[in-house]
Parts: sequence; structure tokens; C-alpha cells
Amino acid sequence: MKIICDWENCKEQGSYKAPVERDNIRKYRLLCLKHIKIFNKNWNYFENMNNDEIEYFLKSDLTWHKSTKSFGSSENFFNLLWNNALEDKLNIFKTTGFKDFQKSNLSTKEKDAFDILELKYSAKWLEIQQKFKYLVKKYHPDKNQGSKKYEDKLKKITLAYSQLKMNLGKK
Ligand SMILES: [Zn+2]
Repeated sequence: MKIICDWENCKEQGSYKAPVERDNIRKYRLLCLKHIKIFNKNWNYFENMNNDEIEYFLKSDLTWHKSTKSFGSSENFFNLLWNNALEDKLNIFKTTGFKDFQKSNLSTKEKDAFDILELKYSAKWLEIQQKFKYLVKKYHPDKNQGSKKYEDKLKKITLAYSQLKMNLGKK
């Protein structure tokens, strides 16, 4: 049976999972490629989180959830993001709406994000995506014999990526 994209009035096939709520991968809508792109552009995990909450996120094992479960079954948005990167599907995050930064207007947060991703401040959005994909592959437990020793690093990378994604999307 063909699953139809959940987007209003869309008749395309729904092949991509879009989370409905934070940290709950079981609740998702299936969208077509066009609409998952729009969804990803607008979705920001850290939206409405204050600094304390973000700090808590960095320290907690929220991203991996229940330790009894295998890594792959963790129920959160990050696994979608990381799995997409691992499976080389990151182009679903590509949108035409992103503009390059006004370099002189970089905030401290944005500069930090570039530093974490080991990118020059002049990096273009495409480079940011490629670097993110590269780093996820490098630090993901699946690529390190299941070891989570790079957990903190991977989280910071994801936070940085989200930061840039959010700001690029707005400018
Ligand atoms: Zn659609």
C-alpha cells in the first residue's frame, strides 16, 4: 500500500519520517521529499529551550535514551538526523531558502558553532552540511565499534549545526 504524504493537499508518496514531538521517534508523520525539506528547514530541536535546558541536554544522556536499548532504537530526533547523515541522505536537509551569512554579523554563538565544526567563518551552508555529515560519521558509535566515547563531542557538533541551521534559515 502506498503511503501518502501527510502534508495538507499533497498526493505524493510519504517516504520520510518527520518527528511530531521532541524525543519521541515513534510519533512521526510521513512526508514526501519536497515536504520533508520544508519540515527540516523549519524544525529546530533547540527552539524555545533556554541556556539551562541546552546545558542540561549537553550533560544528560537524553540523546541516547534508555541504555538497555541498542543505540539505533533510541527515540529521538537526533537519531533521525544522525542516521540520515550516516546513510548519506543529508541532502534532504538542503533547501533553496538558505542564504549565506553576512559575515560581519556573526554572533558569538555562531562563531562558536563554526569553531566546533572546525570550519572557517566564511564557510557556505553546503560546506557546513558536508562537514556535519563527515563529523557524524567520524564520531557516531556505529562507526566506533559501538563506543559512545565521543558522545559529548557529537552532541556539541549537533548543537552547533542546529545553531547555524536556525540562523541561516532566518537570514
Ligand atoms: Zn508532500
